[in-house]
Amino acid sequence: MRQLSARAWWIYLTVFLLALIPYALLPVGLLFGVYFEVLAWSGVLAMAYRLVLSRRRQELGPLWLLVFWAACGATGVLVLTLMDRPPSPGIPDLIFLAGSLAQITGMVWLVRRRVPARNRERLLDSAVISCGYALVVAIFLIKPAVAQAGSIPAAVTLAAYPMSDLFIFALLISLLLSGGLGSRAMRLLAFAQLALLVYDLAYAFIPEFLFQQSVAAGVANAVSVLVYGLLGAAALHPSFTDITSVSSLERRDLPWLRTPLLWAASMTGPGLLAYEAWKYDSRVPDAIVIAVGCTVIFGLVVGRLQVLVSRVNTQSVELAEQADRLVVLASSDGLTGLVNRRTWDDLLVAGLEPGATVALIDIDHFKRYNDTHGHQAGDRLLKTAAAAWSGQMRSHDVLARYGGEEFVVLLPECDAAAATEILGRLRGVTPDGQTFSAGIASWDGRETADELVARADGALYAAKHAGRDRAVVASPGHALSV
Ligand code: GH3
Ligand code: MG
Ligand code: MG
Repeated sequence: MRQLSARAWWIYLTVFLLALIPYALLPVGLLFGVYFEVLAWSGVLAMAYRLVLSRRRQELGPLWLLVFWAACGATGVLVLTLMDRPPSPGIPDLIFLAGSLAQITGMVWLVRRRVPARNRERLLDSAVISCGYALVVAIFLIKPAVAQAGSIPAAVTLAAYPMSDLFIFALLISLLLSGGLGSRAMRLLAFAQLALLVYDLAYAFIPEFLFQQSVAAGVANAVSVLVYGLLGAAALHPSFTDITSVSSLERRDLPWLRTPLLWAASMTGPGLLAYEAWKYDSRVPDAIVIAVGCTVIFGLVVGRLQVLVSRVNTQSVELAEQADRLVVLASSDGLTGLVNRRTWDDLLVAGLEPGATVALIDIDHFKRYNDTHGHQAGDRLLKTAAAAWSGQMRSHDVLARYGGEEFVVLLPECDAAAATEILGRLRGVTPDGQTFSAGIASWDGRETADELVARADGALYAAKHAGRDRAVVASPGHALSV
């Protein structure tokens, strides 16, 4: 299966579409029936072939159910052709409905695999849109089907087809709105099922006598075969056997599609009312006016919701940006932009690893500097020193402002000698001829972060007492001057 050409699916689809042209032109008869079966089984067999050769056997259950559905469709049409006007309900109904049951089960299974997270908004949107479609199905498909049935079993059977269409429609919408159509094979599979829904609607709207001869009938028949072409193309697409997993899903929000769909769904009620009032010359005196009013009001309500949704979206983007800014503010020092004390404490605990060394740095005679040059100059010195020192650090070293004119640095994978060398470099770049004293402590593998910093502090104290402008390395027992 690895060798399956990436282009196999569209080569198949192109050939299939070309083959559809003579099919649409053929008169209904034996050749028409045979042609249908050949095209249909090519799609069914492409699916089965792909699944049999796949290595992901355990995950293909939903797709096997869809193969069964497609096979039932092709077999049902064959039996229907051979039996020539079977009783209703009859064997073809049994085959078609068994297929529909498999299709619905397979699709529910697929939706649950692809979109495991339950989402109230998505369910509501799907429900609204499906209700709109249900209204059309109830009036144009179920009602006439039941009316023409001669018996209760026949009525139930005839109503079962549009009901199954309704289920499939709801499942497709749910996939669409949750971004579950984010793979080409899945989209082809969805289009195949959509084509069948379109065919069923066309069948209901095009009168029987037209269906036998007109161009519309040719197109409608071609659409019913196209179902198999799309199924075959989906099967031959490289992503086919991955569509049962969530991982193949590219989450895509479809707000631009959601609004028109919701709008169209809300229009079905008033639309149908207006249609019937016009068609049957209803006794509801203001039906058309009411329907127009409903249309406008529903449209405005959906528009209102859209405004609300976009406002919430904008606000959540702003909130996320604010949260990001707050994180930066809360973790950095306002004057120097270095990591602040609070964040330092966390980073140190996380960075306590063998080979880690900590150095406390305290600027010498900074009070005097302030007194001489002014507090603002003192601020500037802290800032420029922080920037100059940062430039000397490795990317994974952490320089933090510990408080006042004290800084602290965490040097991973760095022994005391190397730390002393680094501090020498820092001394060289300290601005305005200022000096600092430092206490260095390497983690002994056992002590806590506080104990480590306390040892560095002890060493810093020793450095100050030894005359400043130097670094002292702390040993576990006592501080040692270098
Ligand atoms: P030593 O060599 O012993 O460290 O002497 P020192 O003067 O540096 O130490 P001391 O602790 O006596 O004084 C620290 C001074 O640092 C006092 C305070 O005014 C100054 N200082 C602390 N934070 C800031 C700041 O954010 N900006 C400025 N300009 N000065 C600060
Ligand atoms: Mg100090
Ligand atoms: Mg000082």
